[in-house]
Amino acid sequence: MKAMVLRAPNTPFVLEQRPDPKAGPGEAVARVFACGAGLTIEHIRAGRAPATFPRIIGHEISAEIVEVGAGVTELRIGDPVTCYFYASCGHCRWCRENRQTICTNQNPRVGYQLDGGYAELIKLPAHHFLKLPKGLDHKGKAAEVAVIVDALATPYKVVRYAKVRPLEQVAVVGAGGGLGIHMIMVAKWAKARVIAVERSAVKFDACRKAGADAVVDATGNDVVGTLMEATGGAGVDVVIDFVSSQTSLETGFAALGPGGRLVTLGGSGEEFKVSARAFLNKELAVLGSRYASKQECLDTLALAARGDFWPMVTEVYPLAEADKVHARLARAEVIGRAALSMV
Ligand SMILES: [Zn+2]
Repeated sequence: MKAMVLRAPNTPFVLEQRPDPKAGPGEAVARVFACGAGLTIEHIRAGRAPATFPRIIGHEISAEIVEVGAGVTELRIGDPVTCYFYASCGHCRWCRENRQTICTNQNPRVGYQLDGGYAELIKLPAHHFLKLPKGLDHKGKAAEVAVIVDALATPYKVVRYAKVRPLEQVAVVGAGGGLGIHMIMVAKWAKARVIAVERSAVKFDACRKAGADAVVDATGNDVVGTLMEATGGAGVDVVIDFVSSQTSLETGFAALGPGGRLVTLGGSGEEFKVSARAFLNKELAVLGSRYASKQECLDTLALAARGDFWPMVTEVYPLAEADKVHARLARAEVIGRAALSMV
């Protein structure tokens, strides 16, 4: 099979011809049609994530099972599948509560310690594969189907986790990025009023197209004031921060109205300072969120299959052009999601 391999972090991808993987006991092999390219895996490429090398990265796949190993009963050859990329043991307290994202047993993760989707074939422990529901065209719409399981599932988890209610005012910070655009869509689906907060003017239109009711320029002098104005003085009910710098977090917190929730899931992960008095007086909450549970991924696939929302994939490249798409990701130039195509 052909694979784009990262031999070390922050080096160009190398197109390698590798032996086709064979399914061992408990494993399955799938043919990959497309693989999403987002910031999560750009962090791996750039050496900012705990991965081991050499590695085939990528976890947002649209694929079809071509081989199942001994003991695998839940998959059949020909099943259309995607991938749950976190390592969940299935038996710790958090897995039992369907919170696989905080599983306490650190098993290998797809694209980090297990080879992922930047290849023609992918071999994984069978439990990583999620069967696609009927109604998703995993070949014809391979790029879009591939990214649902992260680009839309991560926002779907946020609306559940932060308990976004109809008519609430939701601000999405970093709204023009790969997850931000899809967060706008899913918050609209949840019947919220959505304010997109974005620094890059070229992304304002995409935010509106995704459904944003208002767009706030984060380069402005008084972003808190602008957000208060945009909410009619009420303050924001839920701020969802995909940037998570000190400035963005402190700004988001200050713009919360009574009962407000600040959700942080951006990569910066900086420290920030907020007032305990504001917490108390307005009964605020700060939540950390990462990825989604397996069931939330399956729910998201089912919702996309019946047409509730659909991913925005704006750029698709052949497998061999992985470097091109990662250069664009590194410069934050991709609007919505990009993907690689293997067919
Ligand atoms: Zn677990």
